Amino acid sequence: MVAVDRGRYTCLIASSGEKGRRRRKDRPEGAAMSGRVVVAMKARELGRKGIVVGDRVALVGDVSGAFDTLARVVRVEPRTSMLRRSADDVDGTDGIERPVVANADQLVIVTALADPPPRPRMIDRMLVAAFDADIDPLLCLTKPDLAPPDELVALYAPLGVPYVVAGKGGPLDDLKERLADRTSVFVGHSGVGKSTLVNALVPDANRAVSHVNAVTGRGRHTSTSAVALELPGGGWIIDTPGVRSFGLAHVSVETVLAGFPDLVEGTVECPKGCTHLGEGCALDAWVAAGHADPTRLVSLRRLLAGRESADDD
Ligand code: ZN
Repeated sequence: MVAVDRGRYTCLIASSGEKGRRRRKDRPEGAAMSGRVVVAMKARELGRKGIVVGDRVALVGDVSGAFDTLARVVRVEPRTSMLRRSADDVDGTDGIERPVVANADQLVIVTALADPPPRPRMIDRMLVAAFDADIDPLLCLTKPDLAPPDELVALYAPLGVPYVVAGKGGPLDDLKERLADRTSVFVGHSGVGKSTLVNALVPDANRAVSHVNAVTGRGRHTSTSAVALELPGGGWIIDTPGVRSFGLAHVSVETVLAGFPDLVEGTVECPKGCTHLGEGCALDAWVAAGHADPTRLVSLRRLLAGRESADDD
């Protein structure tokens, strides 16, 4: 399923019976939507079960994809991952999870090195979302012609987050290599060059999106939360133009800690319900005794604290 808008699910049926994710060397360069686009509604038997972009679904009914036809989604295949956010952009603390994208295996955090300046707290929050979804993060640094990446790279080195430099002044080769045959969600604030990247990676991304909108009858300027685009060389990218914030109220301390396996043992002596942020936390003494790299504890605490902060800092 590649896009959803007001109860209408746009699905792509891969041509020649192939699964959409498989590499297709025979495909002409730049064909973003190589299969048949079918619009579907949710079948009643699915009940309240949600369908999100990235889901693999079973369709019945009219799957011709002809204008004004509507198929039905009767089954959602088991998911390998689910990227979520809390709906705390609504009222702050309800902690209700909203699925964003299913079956992704990489979260590409697009950030400019300057203009606008990097926002480490925002990056931290996206990293926590990746931990929570159990998918690999990738820092994608744009506008290298405006500022060097050294400082930001050093900040994320203790976290072991891989990075690529891409965009103006830098070739896309490294990024393309990281994206090949994977399903990668692109997140990033406006002005960081995310749309430029997406358009460079999927040459007819705009045409693909307007085709989807034409089929659903929604017009050009529909704001979707996410849309999946097939990469010419194999793999998918899922753009998230409608995702402005990443609420993390649903993410537990344990989930964040799980991203730091080298520190977990040090929490054994912590008081029950320890936030690991200060007073009484056993990690200070444990790290001081040389059991782990102090920069790792600093990173853990930054992520834990950032999880509770507001999105727009
Ligand atoms: Zn603690």
